[in-house]
Amino acid sequence: MVLISCSKVKPNKEIQQTINKTDSTTIKHIFNSALTNGQSYQWLDVLSNDIGGRLSGSPEAQQAVKWGEKLMKDLKFDKVWLQPIMVPHWVRGEKEEAYFTVNNTKYNVPICALGGSISTLENGISGEVIEVKGLKEAEALGEKLRGKIVFFNRPFDDTLIKTFQAYGGCVDQRYSGAMVTGKFGALGVIVRSMTNSIDTIPHTGVMSYGDIVEEEKVPTAAISTKAANLLSKKLKENPALKFYFKQSCKTLPDAPSFNVIGEIKGSEFPEKYITVGGHLDSWDLGDGAHDDGAGIVQSIEVARLLTLNGIKPKHTLRVVLFMNEENGSRGGKKYAEEAKKNNENHIAALESDSGGFTPRGFSFDANGKNKELFMSWKSLLAPYGLHDINTGGSGADISPLKNDTISLFGYRPDSQRYFDYHHTAIDTFDKVNKRELELGAASMTALVYLLDKYLE
Ligand SMILES: [Zn+2]
Repeated sequence: MVLISCSKVKPNKEIQQTINKTDSTTIKHIFNSALTNGQSYQWLDVLSNDIGGRLSGSPEAQQAVKWGEKLMKDLKFDKVWLQPIMVPHWVRGEKEEAYFTVNNTKYNVPICALGGSISTLENGISGEVIEVKGLKEAEALGEKLRGKIVFFNRPFDDTLIKTFQAYGGCVDQRYSGAMVTGKFGALGVIVRSMTNSIDTIPHTGVMSYGDIVEEEKVPTAAISTKAANLLSKKLKENPALKFYFKQSCKTLPDAPSFNVIGEIKGSEFPEKYITVGGHLDSWDLGDGAHDDGAGIVQSIEVARLLTLNGIKPKHTLRVVLFMNEENGSRGGKKYAEEAKKNNENHIAALESDSGGFTPRGFSFDANGKNKELFMSWKSLLAPYGLHDINTGGSGADISPLKNDTISLFGYRPDSQRYFDYHHTAIDTFDKVNKRELELGAASMTALVYLLDKYLE
């Protein structure tokens, strides 16, 4: 194989063509093997259906750790180990309930507690509702929030093509709604679910009280978008209507858990690392097939597909199943902390945490010299639908590795359906398409192959 260094990213045309021919053949073989002899879908079936939702600290999360460890050992990684961490342990308790009444008509509301929230009183809480579109608007109302249920109802911007941008534009309401309003004596906080879809599915997700005192903490939950629209409409007709909700969630002491790490030793540069990963934990409502079971099985499949195609990585390849991305990111932080402590030289990392959908590309966060190199791979990746190779964020679990030299990548599949399922009871295995999942695994493998070959 032809090797070039980063400083020679623009070889003469003849050499470039030779390189690309070798690379395009190898990449084609990687895709062929993923689509005809892939394992990611079968693994996802086990992780989703046999283990299921695996929130940090739960018995299912522990089972997932054992599953990941055994699988990578069975696949004959050079080394497989567990990296201990303490994780938050929040439990949902009984199924939540909510409704509002207008002129003796009762409207049931699909609702779920947000991760990290406290419970309501045992028999629930009831109060008048103040609707707001954002944190600033809520803060400006100040004392007017006292005794009220604050309803954050800013919808996704449907004009944004990349739905993660719409999520990014709304999620502060979910994360900080309770933190911002508790100090004004609000009774509770409800938030419109984080999705473009108008349906009856509530979406959970992490929230934070920041460092506010115990007495100012209020229970918080998400309601479905359909219910949010109806509530907003009825509030205009009847501003004094009462909203009721009940939840029994609570936070237990931190629990012991693990990142699961599999390693293939590099043949030329064993002291330099390329990390590929996703997060092993998921929310509890569904089975976490897209978020992030898909990223887990794809990451493991990268190592298998390289081996299957006779590619022995020059750099040490680490597959990391990160724990606790959803409500604490303790796994990502720990991995970076240990890497730093051990003086490990991480040259690149790739994360898959955007669902198991059709490949569209990769976003990357890298220094100027490598940017040109990565852009030069566009023509190699485009035949597989990977057109969107651009600078951008990578992922929550690998971003703690960031320094002046590492190149961080996020796998970017099509995002149109991701927030239909994200953090819900319908994020389940049947929503994942086998070929789309396999194409993602192959895309990631192709990128890792190129990174391993051209980075030093
Ligand atoms: Zn995720």
